[in-house]
Amino acid sequence: MTTGLFTHPDCEQHAMLGHPERPERLRAVMQRLADSGLEDEMRVTQATEISDATISLTHPQEHIALIASSEPEVGTTKIDPDTYLSQGSLRASRLAAGACVEATEAVLSGKIDQAFCAVRPPGHHAEVARAMGFCLFNNLAIAAEVALQDPGVERVAILDFDVHHCNGTVDIFKDRQEVLVCSSFQQNFYPYRYLDFENDHIINTPLVAGTDGSLFRQQVEQDWLPALARHAPDFIFISAGFDAHTDDPLGQLCFDDTDYDWVTKQLRDVAKQMASGRLVSTLEGGYDLQALAGSVETHVAALLQG
Ligand SMILES: [Zn+2]
Repeated sequence: MTTGLFTHPDCEQHAMLGHPERPERLRAVMQRLADSGLEDEMRVTQATEISDATISLTHPQEHIALIASSEPEVGTTKIDPDTYLSQGSLRASRLAAGACVEATEAVLSGKIDQAFCAVRPPGHHAEVARAMGFCLFNNLAIAAEVALQDPGVERVAILDFDVHHCNGTVDIFKDRQEVLVCSSFQQNFYPYRYLDFENDHIINTPLVAGTDGSLFRQQVEQDWLPALARHAPDFIFISAGFDAHTDDPLGQLCFDDTDYDWVTKQLRDVAKQMASGRLVSTLEGGYDLQALAGSVETHVAALLQG
């Protein structure tokens, strides 16, 4: 089995002093993948920038134009209290989305079986026409649209275990039966949007602050796995945020590496059973550098064990 690693060093150009979503995150992830030897077991691809035409599968031209015009020549521009652009942000965000699309195309063409995208800025809070929560474009939603254009892909699933609910992904796919979205998240927590929105193909897994991984695993077994069995996706996408880790400074959930190992193996097995192994995972949150690096190592190692 061949696993791709899609990344680009220019994803570090997106930077604002003192912001938790910082370039060091990507550096820590890449350093760990190199030090652990996992990178040597993967086919590494330098991502290229996504085109406006591909972004527009998900976001309207006005949104693309707003992001493009918001990049400052010096300093930072804030789109909302949490979300900024610096010089280089546009390129970083186009590379992040481009990595997810290229990974998806490589899996669809059979060049690789599955992939992990080590990119930033993250994407899952970006709604159809709204950048928020550190996210400019919804990287994985765009990739899912690309997958759905393939004649061999009728249904996809997006599984999100970030500590924050994936309001952007829900906003984009709330009326699209062919896209199953399962999201676990800390209850009564950012983004305060779509938290109660559920239907047959939008599955919410709220977890009270302080919850450890055992309840998360129960909920995945009780809700996600049956939903996946019903949906029978042709392609599995993972919004892999690691800020539910017990050491993370933003969230108050208490997952550890064994939980990321467990959930990754569950989703990898689902991909093998239902989707011919086709799986693309991308980095979302995770703000303690040590915990983030360790969690990504665990996640990628579990994918490779398939
Ligand atoms: Zn998050």
